[in-house]
Amino acid sequence: MSIVIQTTAKQLTTIAEHYSSNTTIPAGAVFRYKGAGVMVTGYKSGKVMFQGQNEGVESQKWASATSNASTTKTTATARKTPTKATANLPANLANLGVLGSDEVGTGSYFGPLTVVAVYVAPEHIATLQRLAIADSKTLTDANITTLAEKLISILPYHIVNIMPTAYNQYNQTLNANEIKAHGHNRALGAVLAKIAPEKPAAILIDQFTPANTYWRYLSKLDYVVKENVYFATKAEQLHVAVAAASIIARYVELKAMQELSAQAHCELPVGAGKNVDKIAAKLILQGIDLSQYAKLHFANTEKAHRLAKK
Ligand code: MN
Repeated sequence: MSIVIQTTAKQLTTIAEHYSSNTTIPAGAVFRYKGAGVMVTGYKSGKVMFQGQNEGVESQKWASATSNASTTKTTATARKTPTKATANLPANLANLGVLGSDEVGTGSYFGPLTVVAVYVAPEHIATLQRLAIADSKTLTDANITTLAEKLISILPYHIVNIMPTAYNQYNQTLNANEIKAHGHNRALGAVLAKIAPEKPAAILIDQFTPANTYWRYLSKLDYVVKENVYFATKAEQLHVAVAAASIIARYVELKAMQELSAQAHCELPVGAGKNVDKIAAKLILQGIDLSQYAKLHFANTEKAHRLAKK
């Protein structure tokens, strides 16, 4: 994984002065610095690459300086949502008391959409960092469970778990991103109520849609969490609160998938691939109502019906 920012000649000079080379400089590069959890390499082309566990936090330091330059993420899971908003994040974000939120299940045909918000007070940050909360996508199911149960026992959190039946009902009037936005808003509001009168220094949402779209999705709601809200993609790398939210969400999703699989008497896979179509077709042939198990707006529904007819 890495984050690459494009800088101007002047910005590159400033950044190069900040990171004096302390290791071998590769061909085409002007400096390379190795520090705690991050390696920074500046290239003649003006590209500066951040690699390692702290790549998000470290590259963030330069986001305002390069806000007019393009930011490219070069990971396999890089998302298409704009990263511009990250330029406006508070300084020293990683060390602030942050209420973070993240969701899972949006790419999975079977199972719920799960949104979780978690508050991590400054005094909890070190403990969480020691738990080595990495990106939940890289953890095994067993690790997710152990970590999530630990997190739940320490931190104020709220889970909005939208099972398929409810999801499909919402989806009659709201699109998938609207459902997500409502879920984040609800989860954040619930945690704010739990921790009051304490207030987080910032609220960080793992970004899934441009900020203005998010606010538009919430415009008709009576209660909208607005104060100090920031959006960033890969936000789990910017603050442990989002990483914690992501792990708890995975844990809830995992349990929900087990429950649904037991009800369907069939191991329901995650994702939205061909195996998913096959299982869905099998359920259709058994006369099972998919709306209890799956997000019906996915293209898988039609594919499954076609398969079932064969
Ligand atoms: Mn996310």
